Amino acid sequence: MDGAKGAAVIVVGGGVSGLSAAWWLAREGVDVLVVEKGIVGWEASGRNGGGCSHHFSPLFHEEQRLWPMMDELLGYPTEWQAERIRVAMDAAQMELYAQAVENARGQGFVVEVLDTAQLRDAVPLVSPAAVGGYHYRFGGHANPHRTAQAYAWALQDHGGRLMQHTTVRGLTMAGGRVSGVSTDRGELGCDVVVLAAGLQTTRLARGIGLEVPTVAARAEILVTEPLPPMPLGGVDGNGLYGRQTLRGNLAYGGGPHEWIDTPSAAPANSSTPLARNIARRLAELFPAAAHARVLRSWAGTVENTPDGRPVIDRPAHPGNAVIVTLSSVGFGLSPATGHAVRDLVLDGACGFADLSTLSLARFAELEPDWREIQGWVPAPRPDAAAGA
Ligand SMILES: Cc1cc2nc3c(=O)[nH]c(=O)nc-3n(C[C@H](O)[C@H](O)[C@H](O)COP(=O)(O)OP(=O)(O)OC[C@H]3O[C@@H](n4cnc5c(N)ncnc54)[C@H](O)[C@@H]3O)c2cc1C
Repeated sequence: MDGAKGAAVIVVGGGVSGLSAAWWLAREGVDVLVVEKGIVGWEASGRNGGGCSHHFSPLFHEEQRLWPMMDELLGYPTEWQAERIRVAMDAAQMELYAQAVENARGQGFVVEVLDTAQLRDAVPLVSPAAVGGYHYRFGGHANPHRTAQAYAWALQDHGGRLMQHTTVRGLTMAGGRVSGVSTDRGELGCDVVVLAAGLQTTRLARGIGLEVPTVAARAEILVTEPLPPMPLGGVDGNGLYGRQTLRGNLAYGGGPHEWIDTPSAAPANSSTPLARNIARRLAELFPAAAHARVLRSWAGTVENTPDGRPVIDRPAHPGNAVIVTLSSVGFGLSPATGHAVRDLVLDGACGFADLSTLSLARFAELEPDWREIQGWVPAPRPDAAAGA
């Protein structure tokens, strides 16, 4: 590969957002290059719960339209499984989840209420203490690792290029527009840049005069040894989200999060207190899990915007940069995100959804101390408390 050549479009970041965007562009014959500091899917995109049901997003309909077709469109398996069930452990949870049900129904999607007998049929591992649930006849889940790899292979099948182990240090400007990216392997020129660098999007955008407010949080997932496969692998509840893998493992996460300083290049490790909390709630949801060994646990980081919603925008200045930062909803939305970025790059506007609620301009009046106001600040380090 001639790394110094650059491309018409350079995508910074080989997570699912950047890869999907590049795949959409490559399918159109666009000369596109993804520059990734590690390997594809190494950060949040390879560490998430795999859920694909974002009915509060303007991209929801496109998310739901695309997922059932993704294996065929990409030409590689994502392990997509349709539909989800949300379990309520008490009446208050049943009522709380009803708000989400209203939202989905209001958009034309079907949700069935499950009584305890129906719930037990649908979710054989569920606790006898569960009071009921909701069966979403939409949404679903996929395997994050397979999906990231599928995008990467598919984009290359269409002539797109991928440079892994290449860090973008900053963007170069000429005449008020982005002219390229500066990497640890040299300069790469481009006509348009797509910034989809997860936690580093804020820093890289600042270099071209754009303020993208984000703060990093660490979230964790743990995986048990296989349990008997349930009819439907996408079961949430008790404050947890996740999936049962095709092999039967329970892969679950879900609060509490830990606010952290914008981290270095190293991915976050899992921490015992958060993992223990997930394990306890998992055993409450699925009592059989209490007797299953934990095979793995890991942490991932999420870049949260002040309202927790993504930014997908092509700001007027510099005019040739697209900002893509997905907070905690980027895996499921990735097929639709890529489509939206394709539209922003080639047409200047998204042709299938109103992205105004995802624009950067909504943060123009943000208080400088918004992180403190939200309480989204890292806990003091133990060594700092000790005066070390
Ligand atoms: C524990 C956990 C559970 C989650 N569960 C879900 C879920 O169930 N459903 C859902 O939809 N979402 C979920 N999410 C959120 C989802 O994972 C993210 O929103 C999504 O993966 C974001 O993808 P991305 O491509 O935008 O960013 P990332 O995956 O963070 O990718 C950014 C990429 O940019 C690269 N990069 C950064 N800086 C540079 C640089 N300077 N030069 C070159 N490359 C660079 C990084 O190495 C990385 O690969 C979860 C996240 C976590 C952590």
